[in-house]
Amino acid sequence: MRRPLVAGNWKMNGNSESIRVLLAGLENTLAEICQSVDVAVCPPHVYLDQVGRSLQDSEMILGAQDVSRHVEDGAYTGECSANMLKDIGCSMVIVGHSERRHGLGETNDWVAEKVVAARKAGLTPILCVGELLEERETGRMQSVIEGQLQAVIDLGMENFEGTVIAYEPVWAIGTGKTASPEQAQEVHAMIRAYLAGFSQGIAQDIRILYGGSVKPDNAGTLFAMQDIDGGLIGGASLSADDFTAICQAACQDG
Ligand code: PEP
Repeated sequence: MRRPLVAGNWKMNGNSESIRVLLAGLENTLAEICQSVDVAVCPPHVYLDQVGRSLQDSEMILGAQDVSRHVEDGAYTGECSANMLKDIGCSMVIVGHSERRHGLGETNDWVAEKVVAARKAGLTPILCVGELLEERETGRMQSVIEGQLQAVIDLGMENFEGTVIAYEPVWAIGTGKTASPEQAQEVHAMIRAYLAGFSQGIAQDIRILYGGSVKPDNAGTLFAMQDIDGGLIGGASLSADDFTAICQAACQDG
């Protein structure tokens, strides 16, 4: 039985006051849901400390949106290491989000190194994978996603132990277009089958989230699918009401 996880990716949004208000809204409503669903929030790096302090008496999990692939301290201006994230109270970190892969040129190999760096520091990576619309339409979806997974496998299959995968079709992120539950399930099952070729146990246990325009009105049908273990939520995680409703949908599914 895989415990559902819903993670909010706040991206580059907010300020200390809006975050204070958002957290106050979440803390009131999420306490009970957290009994059966893991709920994480991933604020911008500069607000991690503020959010971590605010979550001290809460079951909510603190996550970051990115991590350096470099493990040791050093001359990497602007970077933040996994040890630093751990030190400030993070338990999770998103790696390989499509906005970094496609907007900032992160390669599969770099993303795989980030997974390793995160695990080494004791953080749970949320590894994002997914295809562009053009890749789907030209029949390359499977090979693209398998390539993203394979880069991590090449550094050791054990890197998937405890790791979370988020399937995020790039064409569905922030666009209002959601993969249908059937489309998403097909890819989630494909990811699980690919991993099963290397380790049945890991494939069975790993949580695979769906991300891409998840809203309160579609979360329930997505989360009800057999291989969908929760969601990575962008825009809707900035509204306490919407995020709570999405977490509730994961709870009912479980
Ligand atoms: C995301 O950024 O990971 C995401 C899924 O965004 P949205 O929910 O806004 O599509």
